[in-house]
Amino acid sequence: MSLHKKPINHAYIALGRNLDNPVAHIRQAYRDLNALADTSVLRHSSLYKSAPVGRLDQPDFINAVAEIVTAYQPVQLLHALLKIEKNHGRSRDGTNSLNAPRTLDLDILLYENLRLETEALTLPHPRMIQRAFVLLPLMELAPDCEIPGHGKIGQFLAFCRDQTIERLDIPK
Ligand code: ADP
Ligand code: MG
Repeated sequence: MSLHKKPINHAYIALGRNLDNPVAHIRQAYRDLNALADTSVLRHSSLYKSAPVGRLDQPDFINAVAEIVTAYQPVQLLHALLKIEKNHGRSRDGTNSLNAPRTLDLDILLYENLRLETEALTLPHPRMIQRAFVLLPLMELAPDCEIPGHGKIGQFLAFCRDQTIERLDIPK
């Protein structure tokens, strides 16, 4: 008998939502991630509340980061995330353009120490080092993490001082 071990890869996923009970949807999204084949959520950060960037005429966001292990390859994982977004009611018909109100946004921040640039997927996530709502929850889980092509995470927060964000003192 041979035992086939699936490859296990570490990845960090950013979750964000600003419409229709975001906290409950983010907690459900952890369960959805955990329910993917050969994927487990190891830990997730506190919940954060952040002011919208860009378009200001919309509610505050709730954000968090989850650490997962998965046998999915990056593009396969992206498709799984897009499916979860869709199940949470996110439309991709053009009404959800960059910085628009969000039902659920799931981004792959880091996948192992992979660097990738394709039309569908860029790793590390191209805007992660500019976003306090990604950096703060990620630093909670991985304070020393190396962002491939950019360097240690700690140096980037200094450039986000103008962004309003607050860690919520509620169960994560
Ligand atoms: P953002 O999350 O960057 O504000 P969107 O979620 O609207 O913007 O981006 C949508 C597209 O970005 C996805 O359909 C996907 O193909 C692409 N994309 C590129 N790199 C990534 C990544 N690392 N994680 C998630 N989506 C990504
Ligand atoms: Mg996204």
